[in-house]
Amino acid sequence: MAQKKLLLLSTGGTIASVVSDEGLVPGETGEQLLQMLGSVPYDVTVKDILQLDSSNIQPEEWKTIAEAIYRYRNDFDGIVVSHGTDTMAYTASMMTFMLQNINVPVIFTGSQVPINVILSDAPDNLQLAFAAAAQLSPDIYLAFNRKIMRGCRSVKVRTTAFNAFESVNVPPVAAVTSDGFTIMNRRPHHQQECVLNTQIDTNVFLVKLFPGFDPRFLQAMAKHDCHGIVIEAYGLGGMTYIRRNIAAAVGQLIRRGIPVVATSQCLYERSDLTKYEVGRQALVEGAISAHDMTSESAITKLMWGLGQGMDVAAITKFFETDIAGEVTLN
Ligand code: ASP
Repeated sequence: MAQKKLLLLSTGGTIASVVSDEGLVPGETGEQLLQMLGSVPYDVTVKDILQLDSSNIQPEEWKTIAEAIYRYRNDFDGIVVSHGTDTMAYTASMMTFMLQNINVPVIFTGSQVPINVILSDAPDNLQLAFAAAAQLSPDIYLAFNRKIMRGCRSVKVRTTAFNAFESVNVPPVAAVTSDGFTIMNRRPHHQQECVLNTQIDTNVFLVKLFPGFDPRFLQAMAKHDCHGIVIEAYGLGGMTYIRRNIAAAVGQLIRRGIPVVATSQCLYERSDLTKYEVGRQALVEGAISAHDMTSESAITKLMWGLGQGMDVAAITKFFETDIAGEVTLN
């Protein structure tokens, strides 16, 4: 049987890092990653598209990555993107919106330890990503520590441990078990045309509430040309209204045409603004619920929606729509 044709797009990150006087910096090429991995049962082509620590990966780089995936999507059975772990969940989430109806499995992976260090987690993660690229149905995924997660549901939850990523609010798609590569949750793939749309609006804020948060800062953001805000509120989505009335400030922003999305500071489970008075006040003011989305997904979805020219009403509807499995709606 012919070997699967896979593409490795390398972008840098710890996985490709080398020691320098200034600290770890990306230095290995994709070809070097592949050589250090040893033999793989696939026909792998390598392209270096970036050489960055992912703390330096920003909207400009998202565009580069999305364009590369789009350009090569019909030439390979699967695409692996090696990427720094720090912002990988943001990139994977944004790819979900920029590359809707992707027609090839795209697997992001990285490592906590550079591949050139003995006992690094890089070889396992890369092997896993290649296996996933060869076997899964088209979608955007993240492979790490023997688990495959949906890109738009993954979050980096640990700074140094090998189990750095978790699949939040949905179970992993696949895992390595004693039976080998085991697919647990398949999502139906719809044969629609893949669309590349990298138009985004980066004038957004992601704000975490804390007791004492002064709502005047929300107004200050509006004065500084902010076009949309995601607020990580308390618990199910509660916002202070005694003395510092955040819900009222949210209403003022929304009336000025600035959508405000409420997510939860809790990593797991949904936000529900209808349950408590402190949530309902924000809801009445027009706050948009992110339901069970990760903050990474919520902020990238907001950037993408605003980039399409959506107004508050359209953003509200957009957040009540599941684009690619990023949200669970009742
Ligand atoms: N700072 C690194 C990066 O995000 C961390 C890593 O890759 O694990 O590029």
